[in-house]
Amino acid sequence: MVVYTEAHAGSLATLTEEERLLLAQVWRDRYQALYALPGVRFVMPFENRGEAVGVTLHHPHGQIYAYPFVPPILERESQVFRERPVLLELFPQLGPYVVDREEGFLAFVPPFARYPFEVWVAPVERHPGPWTFSEGEMAAFARLLGRVVARYDALYGEPFPYVMVFHAAPLGEERTFHFHVEFYPPRRARDRLKFLAGTELGAGTFVVDALPEETAQRLREVL
Ligand SMILES: [Zn+2]
Repeated sequence: MVVYTEAHAGSLATLTEEERLLLAQVWRDRYQALYALPGVRFVMPFENRGEAVGVTLHHPHGQIYAYPFVPPILERESQVFRERPVLLELFPQLGPYVVDREEGFLAFVPPFARYPFEVWVAPVERHPGPWTFSEGEMAAFARLLGRVVARYDALYGEPFPYVMVFHAAPLGEERTFHFHVEFYPPRRARDRLKFLAGTELGAGTFVVDALPEETAQRLREVL
């Protein structure tokens, strides 16, 4: 469990710049410490935010899991990154999908988004994980994460529920894996949640009734 601040309320968006940078340094420190443990194959910081995703503790916080195996989604991503640098290939085509940027980092709605308002944050150059960021990159990364959450919260003028996951290289994939953060918000509209149902749960195939370039535009213009 990683508690973001001693304040009872707030979010990645409302932390001070200094607090957010400290938090990013904590993530880096935990990555290094956990990957150094024997048997750990994958480390994942994540945050579940909002009652819509089952959160009962409201104090701003995230969690970190260390796995003794490579989970299926990461196995698949590792395999793809071994074949091709898919994110580096995607970036030049991202024009209408870009939500925000910082020096060396992009926030975008992926053209293949599975959730309305899904956003990914990634370094423009390939890094296996935050442990290879410079101090300047660490600060830019933290600022951009904060601004993505600020954009979410500005959409409906209230805290926006989401699941945020960090995908860094599983053990042994450091030479090809491209670190990225994925935000999955369960909302379709102000009062409507997206439920995973027949095609999502039964076939692993997501149906989304929103165009990624349009949700990217809304997120861009909301701040
Ligand atoms: Zn991923």
